[in-house]
Amino acid sequence: MSGSEQTWLIKGAKPTGGAATDLVLRDGVIAETGVGLSATGAQVIDGDGLIALPGLVDLHTHLREPGREDAETVETGTAAAALGGFTAVHAMANTDPVADTAGVVEQSWRLGRWAGRCDVQPVGAVTAGLAGSQLAELGAMADSAARVRMFSDDGKCVSDAVLMRRALEYVKAFDGVIAQHAQEPRLTDGAQVNEGEMSGLLGLAGWPAVAEEAIIARDCLLAAHVGSALHICHVSTAGSVEIIRWAKSKGWRVTAEVTPHHLLLTEELAVGYDPVYKVNPPLRTEADVAALRAGLADGTIDCVATDHAPHPMEEKETEWQVAAFGMTGLETALRVVHLAMVQTGMLDWAGVADRMSARPAAIGRLDGSVSGGGALHGCPLEPGAPANLVLYDPSAGGVVDPAEHASRSRNSPFAGMHLPGHVHATFLRGDATVLDGKLAR
Ligand SMILES: [Zn+2]
Ligand SMILES: [Zn+2]
Repeated sequence: MSGSEQTWLIKGAKPTGGAATDLVLRDGVIAETGVGLSATGAQVIDGDGLIALPGLVDLHTHLREPGREDAETVETGTAAAALGGFTAVHAMANTDPVADTAGVVEQSWRLGRWAGRCDVQPVGAVTAGLAGSQLAELGAMADSAARVRMFSDDGKCVSDAVLMRRALEYVKAFDGVIAQHAQEPRLTDGAQVNEGEMSGLLGLAGWPAVAEEAIIARDCLLAAHVGSALHICHVSTAGSVEIIRWAKSKGWRVTAEVTPHHLLLTEELAVGYDPVYKVNPPLRTEADVAALRAGLADGTIDCVATDHAPHPMEEKETEWQVAAFGMTGLETALRVVHLAMVQTGMLDWAGVADRMSARPAAIGRLDGSVSGGGALHGCPLEPGAPANLVLYDPSAGGVVDPAEHASRSRNSPFAGMHLPGHVHATFLRGDATVLDGKLAR
């Protein structure tokens, strides 16, 4: 896609929270930065008080198309992403049909390009049909127009150790990465909430931390054994953080993500049996939240990923036991990270740019390592970089109302909560996708 024909002059925004500067966006790139700039024919944006961050990159989004367009489509999901400040999302493979062939991943990739608000990078399935019995066509997906580099059976765990080993071996040939949804299935049969006092109190089947930690430990060892790259989806326990810290100390190629909801919310929310708080992995304890925040702050956890999981009302507004797992998150992610990490002093804005843009872009191979034509996402806001950025107003704030969201689904656990901040504008290759907090295209 070529860059925008419109030139933009952003006056006095603060790149990653630093000193105020002007930015000129022209021909799809950041043409100039500096104080007192002018640009003929440019549309001017008053950036006073706004923080400029590189466009956010989500490693973990469920766009639901094809197959569950009643929950989300590429069109509505990428609108939600743009409103949240994202310029690229990785679309998970558990669609219907499953994204396990070159044909399906190319369809998803094309739909994203047509929607035009946000790059959609498909994640391929690890096993055919997510059935966990034989490898999907990993090589064909890697060679396809979508150039898939990340593979995951997310929603399901690749629990067979032999298959996991083969997958890790296979993707080495093209520097791919296997993203594991770490959930030992036998230990979580029928599980509904975190195992502990709460599960006893609520009379719901418990989901022990060890079911996540055992798979993470096994897969770190497997990744080390075959010398391949492993990414851990939605880390949710203190023990998982410890295991990943240990694996990284060995120099193994292990990366990890944490969701905004696991950085902020705890299992106590399940006390009213409202399934809006039902999620996989479950909300955990305050001690887990503290460990996840510390892990993200010290870099043990590489990045924030939303696990945006839209569901239609009838699948959430029902009894806890039968309700679907999952929460929406694209439109609130940056604001939740602001609250959980920035306002607590655990990350500064440069840290947020690293954990929500640069690192996920590198893990998802959107940093130019595949295209060979320079980085696509996650670049510092410097002249010559693609004009992918978000302008964020940290002094704004308000109560979350999912009815105002662009996502087709309403299952936000932050509904009714006051969150700081506001995404003012988002640019994709110099095109405004969001202006004044509203969709611009
Ligand atoms: Zn998952
Ligand atoms: Zn997921």
